[in-house]
Amino acid sequence: MKEINFIPLMSPDIQEHDIEAVVEVLKSGMLVQGAKVETLEKVISEYLNIKHAVAVSNGTATLHLALIAMGIGAGDEVIVPALSYIATANVVELVGATPIFVDVSIDTFNIDTDKIVEKITAKTKAIIPVHEFGLACDIEKVVQIAKQHNLLVIEDAACALGATENGNYVGTFGDVGSFSFHPRKAITGGEGGLLVTNNDELAEKFRILRNHGVSAKNGKMEFVAAGFNYRMTDFQAALIHSQFLRIEKILDYRNELANIYLKELKHVNGIKLPSIPVGKRHTWQSFHIVVNNEIPRDELITKLRAEGIGTNYGAQCIPYQTYFLNKYKLDSVKHFPNALKAYQNGLVLPLYEKMTLINIEKIINSLVKCKKK
Ligand SMILES: *Cc1c(COP(=O)(O)O)cnc(C)c1O
Repeated sequence: MKEINFIPLMSPDIQEHDIEAVVEVLKSGMLVQGAKVETLEKVISEYLNIKHAVAVSNGTATLHLALIAMGIGAGDEVIVPALSYIATANVVELVGATPIFVDVSIDTFNIDTDKIVEKITAKTKAIIPVHEFGLACDIEKVVQIAKQHNLLVIEDAACALGATENGNYVGTFGDVGSFSFHPRKAITGGEGGLLVTNNDELAEKFRILRNHGVSAKNGKMEFVAAGFNYRMTDFQAALIHSQFLRIEKILDYRNELANIYLKELKHVNGIKLPSIPVGKRHTWQSFHIVVNNEIPRDELITKLRAEGIGTNYGAQCIPYQTYFLNKYKLDSVKHFPNALKAYQNGLVLPLYEKMTLINIEKIINSLVKCKKK
């Protein structure tokens, strides 16, 4: 009986008409990179007010394609935040380049823009700023630094479709923006990713590289590059599109839930709440708090689970993970104290569309109770 009442960390809101949209594609027989993928690309590019959107298989393939299309590889350095989902740095490794880590702010969990310039060398080619947990990083500042130093900007907006800085959507500030539709994001296709850009040449490269290197210029099919199979299926596109039609409602409700957490947890000892700088619209992909050591974070996760609540840590301190630690031997305590703290003491609370106000009350009460014991 207990399982029925369990409040998971995240649960996708797949409605009847979303399912119908998928079934329609399955019955049509046109399953991969067809009309539904094209529709999705069109509606999202219009929403973001950007020239090109290119749908691919997931939000790691997007970043991988972006780096390859930009010609970034061996001998190049790419600046990434020390705190993110591991994929942000893995893709840099996968193209043979070197990730250069920059610590984050402990208030916003986003890259500390004051620490970027000191990491730029003659080898630096690009910055991958992340809009962590759905909050825009200081992207105007990042773009300004990149311009001054002639660097490319690939925005990892995996969690942040619909997030804004000063009224403009994230993903549209840099040379390229990257989104994910994994089930942990607000809108999902099971898997899925999307690249956006105003650059015609890059968009063309993305389209060629996602589909085995085939170019269909002037109606003639030619294999012009060693490409990937990073295509999106039409049933994924239909599922994503169907949910995308209610994106404003979804983001409004996520903000409503987040505001309840912010209000109710404000005076709880030993909990540091996320801060939201002015001029930014959050998508609240994750409601991420930092707890003090009164009760170890992992113990708190276990206790909350026993209360019927699913929580988890938020993001990795990437240079601290085995592969990166063995390879680069960077001292995270010294160089990335905020990323390390967020990784070790961070806690993500449930937040999703199907969550009720009764659920959130239970979560808050349980957290306060578990925090004390
Ligand atoms: C989810 C996520 C990714 C990876 O997206 P997938 O679609 O799961 O491959 C990359 N970067 C960040 C910041 C993410 O949150």
